[in-house]
Amino acid sequence: MSNLAVLKIDKSGQPVRWITKEMATSLVCNGKVLWAFGDQCLTMRGGVQKTGVRSIIHLSPIIAVDGSIKKHAINIPLMNKYLFRRDQHMCMYCGQIFHRNELTRDHIHPRSLGGGDLWTNVVAACKPCNQRKGARLPEEARMPLLAVPFKPTFSELLYLQNHNILEDQMHYLRKGFKHLEKRGLV
Ligand SMILES: [Zn+2]
Repeated sequence: MSNLAVLKIDKSGQPVRWITKEMATSLVCNGKVLWAFGDQCLTMRGGVQKTGVRSIIHLSPIIAVDGSIKKHAINIPLMNKYLFRRDQHMCMYCGQIFHRNELTRDHIHPRSLGGGDLWTNVVAACKPCNQRKGARLPEEARMPLLAVPFKPTFSELLYLQNHNILEDQMHYLRKGFKHLEKRGLV
């Protein structure tokens, strides 16, 4: 599979981001990797050496890179693609599954009534449900929510960002999961 990504972590062991195999290869070749975890399952073909042999680099799925330790927990971007994955592409009012083009971001406490654009105030909703609810609270519209919205942790965001997570990476990220298991999402 070509779209597998490498999980970059910092020297304290905190996940940082997904990087491409090419980026990981360059970090390895430039001696920036402090340590690596997991079965070396990603293979990259390097240049042809003087001996005529093409070099092969085996990458681990998780690499720790030197550098500053950042606090990520604060900034979890609220983007529809992650929101819809959080809600499993299910309309949180009627319970049906939709393609992401048919979903909208519904503000539970409507924006016109002062509701914030926050992870804990938004859910995936199909267009008809969003329209039916209008600028009302779920109670007023008699449209109870099917699940309580949550703000993902940074590890959960990384999970929502990647569709092809390897077992070793999943095992690593799981340590930072808070809501996904309760919701039966993993
Ligand atoms: Zn709906």
